[in-house]
Amino acid sequence: MFTSGERVFRKMRSSFLPSVAKQLFKDIQKIWKETSQIPDDLLIALKFVFGPSALQALDLVDQRSVTCLSSPSGRQTFQVTGGSGRMYICLVSCHFCPCPAFAYTVLRRNEGLLCKHLLAVYLSQAMGVMQQETVSDQEMTTLLSATSF
Ligand SMILES: [Zn+2]
Repeated sequence: MFTSGERVFRKMRSSFLPSVAKQLFKDIQKIWKETSQIPDDLLIALKFVFGPSALQALDLVDQRSVTCLSSPSGRQTFQVTGGSGRMYICLVSCHFCPCPAFAYTVLRRNEGLLCKHLLAVYLSQAMGVMQQETVSDQEMTTLLSATSF
């Protein structure tokens, strides 16, 4: 799918979250803990930083579409069920989602920071509304190798 793996890796490194986005997740985490709500000003900030994927990601969080998969050896990955029912394995540690939007918008055109799936993972983490599931090391390896990386 990619012409040069090297180029993609360089781009992935440079597309890690800027501090404004990290701060936003921290604010959401704090306010969500206190009020279980995301106030309008943070919603506007989310839309400003992440564009249209912000609302789609919040929908995914509302539908509890994010599951944290952990294996006994301590590996962790996130499974997100998209609107179409397709499941994506997101690698938050290296900021990667195998969906087409991530490949085109984030990696190729550099127009967005995150696809809605990765954003949903970050938001679920901040809001602590993630489902947990344990998989065997074997299953984890299969999941990760099935991700077109
Ligand atoms: Zn995605």
